[in-house]
Amino acid sequence: MSVEIFFAGSGAASPFSRNELPGFIIRYKGSLYIFDCGEGFQKKFSRFKLGFNKPMYLFISHLHGDHYLGIRPFLQTLSLSQRSLPVFIYGPPGLSEYIFSYILKDKLGFRVYIKEFWEEKIIRINNDVRISFVRAVHTSTAFSFIWTQIKRKRFDVKKAEALGIPPGPLRRKLVRGETIVLNNRVIKPDDVLLDNLKPIKVVYSGDTMPNYRLASKARDADILIHESTYSTEDYLKAYDTLHSTAKDAAQIAKKTKTSLLVLFHYSNRYENIRILEQEAKKYFSRVILSKPGLKITISGGNPRLFVIEELF
Ligand SMILES: [Zn+2]
Ligand SMILES: [Zn+2]
Repeated sequence: MSVEIFFAGSGAASPFSRNELPGFIIRYKGSLYIFDCGEGFQKKFSRFKLGFNKPMYLFISHLHGDHYLGIRPFLQTLSLSQRSLPVFIYGPPGLSEYIFSYILKDKLGFRVYIKEFWEEKIIRINNDVRISFVRAVHTSTAFSFIWTQIKRKRFDVKKAEALGIPPGPLRRKLVRGETIVLNNRVIKPDDVLLDNLKPIKVVYSGDTMPNYRLASKARDADILIHESTYSTEDYLKAYDTLHSTAKDAAQIAKKTKTSLLVLFHYSNRYENIRILEQEAKKYFSRVILSKPGLKITISGGNPRLFVIEELF
């Protein structure tokens, strides 16, 4: 099953950024996984026509305004669109204060669950997806995220028959990952479960200095969405504010051996963001610039197929 990524905004800091503020959506098996939610997010979200009442999980990298101040207006838009399903929001401490003070004033008509994390965490959602929170190197408590598809191994009926395993509880135990003993013979799950293709992995750096810890955890990512706030000529500014340059993003991409590097979170100081792409390309060839309206589809086959479209 394919994974789709929709970019709502890809600029940094200023709400007047021509690239809008950070925010993108991963759609997988009918659920929406939203990463960061800058001001104006709800307008772009509506343009993608993804539906207002889908299972929804928001992940906020850190509490700098450009990454979370779009949550309240987004919840309001969902409410006006008669949402009934709950919304789950995850992020660093302080998030619930911002959201609940607003919810108390306005009735939304659906539930909002908020989970704050201080530390690194791995969560599973519906046994479909695993999301790792990796501490980023930034000026506030900030996370990078690794979104990974959970693939179930397929039960090989022919192998099970050849081994004489009857349908029923013994087969169910093997599917659950338990080893069984049949006629004094030990049978392991791997004897009857077929290995599937590599799960799809999407990595998002959030705001961070180049972080080689993230690179080591994000090995073989299909897509690395990495901040590239500055160009190398402004590297002092980048490190002063704990951000990355386009060159840094490319070097992390090289380290992770990602299939595609997507640049993200550009400073508004660059009239022409192509210079960031050109800079990154000197170190890593498979680079694209994210922009509002961009959609990337990744098919789960082997070899992977990437389809890149501009929806608006
Ligand atoms: Zn930012
Ligand atoms: Zn920041």
